[in-house]
Order: sequence, then C-alpha cells, then structure tokens
Amino acid sequence: MHKVLVVGDRLFMKFPDFSYLEKRAVEADARIVLTKGMSHEQIRDEVREAAAIIVIGHPITRDMIENAPGLKLIMTLSVGYDVVDVAAATERGIIVSNSPTYCSSEVAEHALTLVLTLSRKIQELIPHVRDGGWDYKQTKPIHAFTTRKLGIIGLGRIGRQSAQKAAAFGMEVAAYDPYVDDDIFERLGVERFYDLEPMLAACDAITIHAPLTDETYHLIDDAALAAMPRHAVLVNTARGAIVDRPSLERALKSNAIAAAGIDVLEVEPPTGEEELLHMPNAIVTPHIAWYSEESHRQNEVLGMDELVRVLRGQRPRYVVNPQIFSRR
Ligand code: NAD
Repeated sequence: MHKVLVVGDRLFMKFPDFSYLEKRAVEADARIVLTKGMSHEQIRDEVREAAAIIVIGHPITRDMIENAPGLKLIMTLSVGYDVVDVAAATERGIIVSNSPTYCSSEVAEHALTLVLTLSRKIQELIPHVRDGGWDYKQTKPIHAFTTRKLGIIGLGRIGRQSAQKAAAFGMEVAAYDPYVDDDIFERLGVERFYDLEPMLAACDAITIHAPLTDETYHLIDDAALAAMPRHAVLVNTARGAIVDRPSLERALKSNAIAAAGIDVLEVEPPTGEEELLHMPNAIVTPHIAWYSEESHRQNEVLGMDELVRVLRGQRPRYVVNPQIFSRR
C-alpha cells in the first residue's frame, strides 16, 4: 500500500477534515499519513517510505527529497509551488504537480475588491462614520474608475481574469509580464509595458499576480514604491515575499503611496510585530483570496484526481517539471 504524506500547517488549517482525501486514496491503494505537529526532522524520517507528498506552505527541501527513494510525486494543493525544491525533485525524476486552476476567479475577485475598496477609500470611511462623522469631503478626492488605470504584474491565469474584471468597471488596464506573448495583450486589450518602473509610474493602482521566484523576491522595494504616484494603491494577493514589507510600511507612513491591500505576508501567520496590521491606510486579509465554498471543494477534488492518476502510473494534468518525462 502506498504511503501518502500530508504536510504543512496551512494545509491542516485549510482542510480540518481529511475524510475526502482518505476516501479517494483508497482508489489508488494508498493510505494518508498526517504529519501535524511533527518537526522538520520527523517529517524527513516519515518521507523515507512515502510514495507521494501533499503539501501547502511547508518547505520540501533537498534533504527530504534525497531521503525518499520511493517518492513519485510532490503535489502542492496550492497554485504556488515556491516551497518545493523543484531542481532537487527534477534531478531524481520526481513529478512536481500544483493546483493551478481551482481559484483563479476567486483571487481575481479578491484583488479587484481590494483595488475598488481602497480607490473608494472605504477603509477611511468606516472609522469616520463610526466616530460620528457624515461628510463626503472626508475622503476627497475620489476619481471615477473610468478615468483610472490598473497595472497588473504577471498576466497569467489570475492576471488575465483581473484584467477582464477591471475592464468591466471601465478601468484602463496595463500589464508587465516579460514571459507572455504580444497576442495575449492584444486579445485582452491590455497595454503592454516591457519594463516595470514605467508601468508603476503610469498607473493609479497596481495588483501583483506573479509567482514568487528569485526574480520576483522583493520586486516591490523602496525604489519601486518611489516610482508610484502618491495617490496610487498597491494590492498583493500573490506571495508576501514579492513585497519588501518594511519598504511598504515606510511608503505608507510617509504617504509616498496612498494605500495597500495585502492578502499575503512573507511570514504567515504574522508574528504580531508587523506595523502593517495596524496602519489606517492598509487592509490586510488572512491569505483568503483563494477561498470560496466552491473553490475549496474543487481544490481537494482536483488534487486527489491528480494523486490517483500518478499512483496508478498515469501522467498528471498539471506538471511543473515536464522535462522529467522526456528524460524517461
Ligand atoms: P500563472 O502561472 O498562471 O501566472 C503567473 C504569471 O506571472 C505568468 O504569466 C508569468 O509569465 C508571470 N511572471 C513570472 N515572472 C514574472 C516577473 N518576474 N514579472 C512579471 N510577471 C512574471 O499563475 P496564477 O494562477 O495567475 O497565480 C499567480 C500567483 O498567485 C501564484 O504563483 C500564487 O503564488 C498566487 N496565488 C495566491 C493565492 C491566494 O490565496 N492569495 C491563491 C492562488 C494563487
């Protein structure tokens, strides 16, 4: 019987009930082993006998991978797979698979909700009314969406849905994505920027939808924030480490930008030390952009479909390192 290791505090928070996973594992003659409460060293020992790892948020490191001779699959039940040492897995012919489609619409909705909320300055109006105020001038100026430009960093699945939703509100849309062909920009009616800084300078709102990579780590730093207009808002629903948090806190404190909407932090859950959590011009949500009742269900169904496929010797639909098949 195959052993399938379930790893990561975020996964245990996301799926408090594993009955569906356990039921589906039987189809592949597999049993689910939960690693809740285990140390990295204990998990590394458990991996030795495993055929598959299902993970969210916990690093799957080279030492773990090299300690697992029977490992066939590392599957993230998330879109991002930055926690997995993909190079180490690829060297050993282990499939790395992610869940790229289950929540694209939800994340775009959450990002746009933050852009619209911050642009209408709702975060300032809530305390104003609670304190007895009733004056529209409190948040002057607010501009019509039809006069505003949204800049998208990363025009992939979520970026494209965000572009369409923003266009439905009458916003002009621009994007920076060095890896997407011109025809995608043309088809979506999105203005293309080949460099990031000019787009930051030209937009009233920026939303990030790129993966966390060596190239995007702290992409939004002091210099990037200084390029944005003072009235601009920044939204990050991608990965926390794409934004240098202390830089963002400085920019918000000095009003170098107007406001930020943040769903992801470099360290999650937050330590409590983050100034951002208490700033009046920031909205922070608890890594929830992926969530709806529908996407939650899709996440486990699509994930277990993939697991069953691989353990039965078939190829999964979503492979991060397809080069391992050509080598085989
Ligand atoms: P995707 O792979 O479809 O699109 C990512 C896009 O980013 C691609 O078009 C790629 O070319 C582009 N990109 C890569 N490097 C770039 C760079 N240096 N500069 C600009 N663009 C770059 O992924 P997606 O489904 O759109 O998801 C995007 C990210 O959103 C994921 O990697 C994940 O980290 C994050 N996410 C967060 C949540 C949440 O709940 N907050 C949920 C799902 C996904």
